[in-house]
Order: sequence, then structure tokens, then C-alpha cells
Amino acid sequence: MARAEALVVGGGVSGLTTAVVLAESGRPVRLVSDRAPEHTTSAVAGALWEPYLAEPRERVADWAFATLPELTELARRPAETGVRLVEGVKAQRTADPVPPWWLPRLPGALRPLGPDEVPRGYRSGYAATMPLLDMPTYLAHLERRLVAAGGTVERRRLTSLAEADAPLVVNCSGLGARELVPDRQLRPIQGQLVVVENPGVERWLVVEPTDGEENVYLFPQPFGLVLGGTALRDRWATAPDPELAARVVARCAEIHPEIATARVLGHRVGLRPARPAVRLEAERVRDGRLVVHNYGHGGCGVTVSWACAREAAGLLPPD
Ligand SMILES: Cc1cc2nc3c(=O)[nH]c(=O)nc-3n(C[C@H](O)[C@H](O)[C@H](O)COP(=O)(O)OP(=O)(O)OC[C@H]3O[C@@H](n4cnc5c(N)ncnc54)[C@H](O)[C@@H]3O)c2cc1C
Repeated sequence: MARAEALVVGGGVSGLTTAVVLAESGRPVRLVSDRAPEHTTSAVAGALWEPYLAEPRERVADWAFATLPELTELARRPAETGVRLVEGVKAQRTADPVPPWWLPRLPGALRPLGPDEVPRGYRSGYAATMPLLDMPTYLAHLERRLVAAGGTVERRRLTSLAEADAPLVVNCSGLGARELVPDRQLRPIQGQLVVVENPGVERWLVVEPTDGEENVYLFPQPFGLVLGGTALRDRWATAPDPELAARVVARCAEIHPEIATARVLGHRVGLRPARPAVRLEAERVRDGRLVVHNYGHGGCGVTVSWACAREAAGLLPPD
């Protein structure tokens, strides 16, 4: 007997990964998304493996640590997947570096910086090698993988989940779930980045702590050096703010002065889908169908993507 078809709403990292997991398990899958992958929030992401701006913390950590080996495996084929393992630095202003809260889960992942390794303007920090994803390449890889496993992709907008024409529905619509479900608990955390021509920066760098509205980070990507960034709650604007962009560049140039004169290649703004808690659960809706929700991953949807996708897939009936 053929397995029931699943319709996945959303073509960002959550929807594509969930659709890949389902299609590769042999289930017929249709993905519906009103935006092409390169126009999603997922395409804006930096994207470094790091639990950030998502709750509840322990569950997010479980998903992040279960996703890490999958991203590490994909980094064996960087040209094809867009995933690389890159060494970088977490820089701090305190004399003794404060370890991230998740360090006990990954002992040995971070090495305290020697005095000659500490970036200009900082006093301590850690070195780490983590997955760094070139998101446009990674999303294209996921879409190819979905199609290779027999999945199909439709470009259209749903105005409600009742319009999802399949016996099983997986809702990975990110911030779109605010209208689609509707779920008023979802709110944006706006992030703005500047992409410049890379003047020779090879290591990523994140200044900690990262809990402010304006943070400092640099991600060397094949398409340029990504400079960050902001985390502005409840800001819906998606047009880049030129003054903010200038501040981002100036702060990164304090660390690498060559950045001040680097050619600007582009600006990116994305709205992180934030919620008091990631929504990953099954719901029996009024017409009797099963909807599995997988959205609200805030600032680390890439970091938790494979574990959330597998958990979402596991919430569907086996046939
Ligand atoms: C500046 C910035 C930097 C970031 N850096 C990182 C990082 O370094 N590491 C990390 O892990 N995360 C990072 N993130 C967070 C990450 O981008 C998000 O958590 C993630 O992209 C969420 O993915 P998603 O697939 O759930 O949502 P989205 O990427 O927003 O995708 C939602 C999909 O649903 C579709 N959709 C929505 N509504 C409808 C509808 N009504 N009908 C049809 N389709 C619909 C959309 O078209 C889209 O395809 C960053 C985010 C930003 C903004």
C-alpha cells in the first residue's frame, strides 16, 4: 500500500530539511512555498552552528547537538553542500573568558586563546572549529536532494492550513505561521548584515556576549565576508538601514582595519521567527487531519534543523 502523502509548507531550512527526511524515508512529499529558497529568512542566515535566540534552552541544545554531526558530515563535500568546518574565534572583553552555557555538552570543543591570538580590542576568548554554511548553496543542495528523492516543489501561497491539499501536513512556515496558523506568539527578531569583498579574513569571529541588539561578528563565505549584525525585537522592516550598516562595518573594522575600505557587495535583512518556545508538535485539526508544526526556531534554525526535521517526521503516522 502506498504511504500517505505529506505536504510540507515552507521552503526555508526547516521545510526543506523536513521534506528531505520524509522523502528519503520513502514517503511521497510535496513542498509548498510562496518564496524561492534564496528569498527566505534562511538564505539570510550567517550561518554558523550556534544555539542562539531560541527556547526552551535545553531542548534547543538537544536539537543543536544532534544536528552537529549531520552538518559535520555534510562538510565533507563543501563545494556541493555549502557546508564547511571553519576555525574561528569567540572574542571577549573580560580578562577571563566566560564559557558558553552549552560547553558542558561539548567538552573540548573550545580552546582558550593564547595571548597572541586574542583579536585587537579584546582581552580573551576561545577558538573553535564549527560548521559554517553558505546558505544559498546549502538550500539549493537540500532542494536538489529533495527532488532526487522524488519530492516535488510548488511555488504558491496558502492563506490557511485548510488549503493544504494532502492527508498529512507539516507546517514549516517560519514567521509566516503568524498568519497561517494563526499564531500571535510568533514575533520577528530583525537581523541586518553587510556583505563586503573579503580583504583576507579566513577565520570567523563572534564577539561575546551576543545578547545585545547590536552585535559584532564576521563570517568568511565564498561569496564575500559577512559582517553582523543586529537582533532587534518586533522590528518588521526588511529594507536595510544605511546608518546601522555603517555602524556594523565600523565595528568590524575596529578588529580588521582593512574592512573599512572593503567594497560593499550587498546588504541583507532577515526576520528571525521567534517564539517563547519552538513549536514542534502534532495537532489534530478541525477537519480531522494531522498537522505537524515545526517552526519558531528564532536565531538558530539552521543549527537545530536536522534534529527538528527528524522529530517532526517521527510525529507522522508510519504509513
Ligand atoms: C541575520 C540573520 C542571521 C542568522 N544567522 C544564523 C546562524 O548563524 N545560524 C543559525 O542556525 N541560524 C541563523 N539565523 C536564523 C535562521 O535564519 C532561522 O532560524 C531559520 O532561517 C528559520 O528557518 P525556517 O525554514 O523555519 O523559516 P524561513 O526561512 O523563513 O522559511 C519559511 C518558509 O515558509 C514559506 N511560507 C511562509 N508562509 C507561507 C504561506 N502562507 N504559504 C506558503 N509558504 C509560506 C516561506 O516562503 C518560506 O519558504 C539567522 C537569521 C538572521 C535573520
